[in-house]
Amino acid sequence: MDFPLKLIQLLRITNRVAALTGAGASQESGLRTFRDSQAGLWAQYKPEDLASPQAFAPLVSLESFSETSGVARDPKLIWDWYAWWREAVKGVRPNAGHYALAEIEKHISEFTIITQNVDGLHRMAGNQNVLELHGNIQRVRCSECYTFTETWGDDTESVPQCEVCGGLLRPDVVWFGESLPRDQLEAAVEASRTCEIFFSIGTSGVVQPAASLAYAARNRGAVVVEINAEATPLTPKADYFLQGKSGEILPELVKAVWG
Ligand SMILES: [Zn+2]
Repeated sequence: MDFPLKLIQLLRITNRVAALTGAGASQESGLRTFRDSQAGLWAQYKPEDLASPQAFAPLVSLESFSETSGVARDPKLIWDWYAWWREAVKGVRPNAGHYALAEIEKHISEFTIITQNVDGLHRMAGNQNVLELHGNIQRVRCSECYTFTETWGDDTESVPQCEVCGGLLRPDVVWFGESLPRDQLEAAVEASRTCEIFFSIGTSGVVQPAASLAYAARNRGAVVVEINAEATPLTPKADYFLQGKSGEILPELVKAVWG
């Protein structure tokens, strides 16, 4: 692919870059967005039944809410679903696009990955500065007191409980209707507002508030580069639209700039 010379030159001199990544960046690894994974045994459930606080809620007050919202309350089902997904993710490796982003971090003094993916592949590829807007499927925490844990019992009957307070353990991911972790979101907004180049990679550009980050960057004068298989609502506003797979385009871009 021929890249615009201006973009290559800019990448050579810039110090601040932010890159937002979405499902497309992970799909090239053979996995596994929430909806892609939800096949076979899990296909019969509504996404809300597998990933919402109402469905998991251990509290009576929320139980009544769950009845009115039409969401089945079954914390064990949710725990099993995430246990299954966690195992599936373990067999997945970062793709060439992830490794290219890790390479870019070596060349740019302030490089921030902002990801909507929960699979942890960016860190696995070697990126240090990663903001996880939707959490990380490999982390488990208490639903009551927020204590993180690395180990839990393997009871097949019920959801494992927190050793500190007895609350139910849950994956540290953002469910439908939950707000994003504030520290990660604030850092993402800051990185977007201060960067000189903003990449939007493999994301549909419609899920808020992540989608607004590109506009925040653009309004502050950043050059916006979109890498995606298909055009999105962001495309007409982007300075550059590089159409294709990030696993192919990013390694070529790294070669063109620093090779
Ligand atoms: Zn607890």
